[in-house]
Amino acid sequence: MSEPKDFPIIGKDALKREVKDLSVVSWWGVDRKEIEWYPTIDHDKCAGCGLCFVTCGRRVFDFDKQLSKPVVKYKYNCLVGCQTCANLCPTNAIAFPDVSIMKKLVAKNNVVKKSFEIIAPIIGCEDNLSSKETESDFNK
Ligand code: SF4
Ligand code: SF4
Repeated sequence: MSEPKDFPIIGKDALKREVKDLSVVSWWGVDRKEIEWYPTIDHDKCAGCGLCFVTCGRRVFDFDKQLSKPVVKYKYNCLVGCQTCANLCPTNAIAFPDVSIMKKLVAKNNVVKKSFEIIAPIIGCEDNLSSKETESDFNK
């Protein structure tokens, strides 16, 4: 899997921080834009504290000065599987899809097997990998 080393810069956010287009990075070989994993904000619940906007290192959020609330601007910059902002939000205003979609993605794309292949050299079990042909083998 080859990934670009320098990501395209696509703008600056309300704090004048550079925003890079991380959507160009595939997820275990799957085009990031085919994976519907990103936060949504319930603005009725949101207190406008900015914690999600300030802490997300992937610049998924921008801050709308007129609304005085964050907005999800670069949804495919979100790290697939991450829910940190939802965990931090003091008013539970951030939601994600059900985690079951992650389990399905992992199974469909043989992610566990691919991971074993990557760590095989450090755990010294390369010979055992050939017997694990499908994702379902790992769930037995
Ligand atoms: S952390 Fe929650 S309450 Fe604070 S700005 Fe983000 S969504 Fe709103
Ligand atoms: S889940 Fe993680 S990467 Fe995605 S928006 Fe929240 S903090 Fe950023």
